[in-house]
Amino acid sequence: MKRLQHWVDGRSVPGTSGRTGRVFDPATGAQAAEVDLASREEVDAAVAVARAAFPAWRDTSLSRRAEVMFHFRELVDGHRKELAQVLSAEHGKVLSDALGEIARGLENVEFACGIPHLLKGEFSEQAATGVDVWSMRQPLGVVAGITPFNFPAMVPMWMFAGALACGNAFVLKPSEKDPSSALFLADLLARAGVPDGIFNVVHGDREAVDRLLEHPDVAAVSFVGSTAVAQHVYETGTRHGKRVQALGGAKNHMVVLPDADLGMAADAAVSAAYGSAGERCMAVSVVVAVGGIGDALVAAIAERAQRLTIGPASDSASEMGPLISSEHRDRVAAYLDVAPGNGTVVLDGRTDPAAAGDGFFLGASLVDDVPAGSPLHTDEVFGPVLSVVRVDTYDEAVALVDGHPYGNGVALFTRDGGVARRFASQIECGMVGINVPIPVPVSYHSFGGWKASLFGDLHMYGPDGIRFYTRGKVVTSRWPDPATSAVDLGFPQVR
Ligand code: NAD
Repeated sequence: MKRLQHWVDGRSVPGTSGRTGRVFDPATGAQAAEVDLASREEVDAAVAVARAAFPAWRDTSLSRRAEVMFHFRELVDGHRKELAQVLSAEHGKVLSDALGEIARGLENVEFACGIPHLLKGEFSEQAATGVDVWSMRQPLGVVAGITPFNFPAMVPMWMFAGALACGNAFVLKPSEKDPSSALFLADLLARAGVPDGIFNVVHGDREAVDRLLEHPDVAAVSFVGSTAVAQHVYETGTRHGKRVQALGGAKNHMVVLPDADLGMAADAAVSAAYGSAGERCMAVSVVVAVGGIGDALVAAIAERAQRLTIGPASDSASEMGPLISSEHRDRVAAYLDVAPGNGTVVLDGRTDPAAAGDGFFLGASLVDDVPAGSPLHTDEVFGPVLSVVRVDTYDEAVALVDGHPYGNGVALFTRDGGVARRFASQIECGMVGINVPIPVPVSYHSFGGWKASLFGDLHMYGPDGIRFYTRGKVVTSRWPDPATSAVDLGFPQVR
C-alpha cells in the first residue's frame, strides 16, 4: 500500500505517531494509499524547522522572491496534466474540473509574482518640518494553512502563494482525504528555489490542527472548510493570540427573474450545480425561480441534467465524477428521501447506472418546490442535488437569500441592468454574480463570504491576502537640514 509521508525541511519525512488515515480512489471505492497523521510533537518539529528557516527568507530580496514565484509558476504550468491526474485520482473530479482548479490556483501564483509592487509602502515627505514618514509591510513569521478536500491544489495556492511571496514560512495541513496534491506542489516549490524549511506539509486530523492553533510560534492561520470547524479554528486560534481567517461552508442561491435568458440560466444552473459533483463552496445549490419562469426553467434544467455523463475521471467522456467518500455519498443521497410537503423529486441520482457500482457515485438530482426553511433549503448538502424554490416576487427572492445563515456567493439572472445593480448593492453576500453563476473573484480581488461563511475580517488571496500575511510598520524620521546644521560633515556642502 502506498504510504504518504510529511514534507519537512525540503524532504519527505515518515510519520512517527503510529496513526494513519485511509485515502481512497472514489471512482472504484478501493483504498489507494495510507497517509501519516501527525502527532503534536511532529507538528512542533515542522514549526521549529519553519521558524529556523524564516529569517533568511525574510531577508531574501524581493526580486529573488519574485523570481522563485515565476519559476514555480512555470513548473506548475508545465505539470498541469500530471497534477490534474494526481488530484482526480484521490478527489474524483473529472480532468476538465481538475485542470480548471489548477488554472484558478495558478492565478494566485501569478498575482504573487508581482510582490515587489504589492509590498511597496507609502511615503509622506515633510510631514512636519524636516520630518518624513513612511510605512512598510513585513512578514509575520511562521503561518499555517488548513485546507479542505474539495480543492486540494487551488485552496493551498490561494494561501501559500501570497504568504511565501511576502516572506513568511508556511506549514500546510492539507485534507487527509486527498493529500497527494499538496506533496506534488511541495516538490515543485522546492524545485522552483523555495529554501528548505520555508514550505512544509504536515498531514493530519484534529490533533495536528489543534496543535497548530495553540502553537506559540505560529503567527497566523488561514482555514477553509466547513462552518463548524471554521468557527472552532477561529475561536481557538484567536484565543491563542493569532490572526485567523476562517472560511466556512455555503449555500448559494441563483435567483432567476422572469426576464432572464432561459437557456443561459439553465446552462449555468447545470454547470454550477453539478460541476465537481456539487462539491464546491461556490456551487449553486438553490435555484430561486421568480414569477412565472419556474415550469420552463425546471424543464430546461432537467433536460440538460439528465444528459450528463457520470463516470470516472479516467474516462474522457465523463462530465461528473464520484463524491469523496461512501459516507458522504450516502449522506447526500439521504436528502432525496424528501418528506411529504418538502419538495418533489424531478431527477433521482440514485437511479443513475454509475451509482450501482462500488465507486462513490451519485447522479445529478433535482428537487422542485422545495419550501424555504426545509432541510434541502437550510442545509449545505455538498453534492449533486439542486433544489428549486419558487417565489412570486423579486423581494421574496431577496428576503430568502438575506435570511439564510450562509452568505458566500449568490447569482442573479436577468436582462434588467437597473435591477441587477440594486441587487449587487443590497444583497447580503460576499460574492455576487450577475448572469455569472459562480462568481469566484479573479486573483487581484479577494475571495470571501459573509455571515456563517467567514470568520475573521480579511478575505483570502488578492489584496486582502497581502494584508493578512504582513504587518504594518510606520517609520517617522527627522534629519538635520545641512543648510542650517552646525554639524561639521567633514566635506564641502552645497548651500
Ligand atoms: P472539513 O471542515 O471537514 O475539513 C477542513 C479541514 O479541517 C481539513 O484539513 C480537516 O482535516 C480539518 N478538520 C476536520 N475536522 C476537524 C476538527 N474537528 N477539528 C480540527 N480540524 C478539523 O471540510 P471538508 O469536508 O474537507 O471540505 C468541505 C467544506 O469546506 C464544505 O463545507 C465547503 O463549503 C467548505 N469550503 C469552503 C470554501 C470557502 O471558500 N468558503 C472553499 C472550499 C470548501
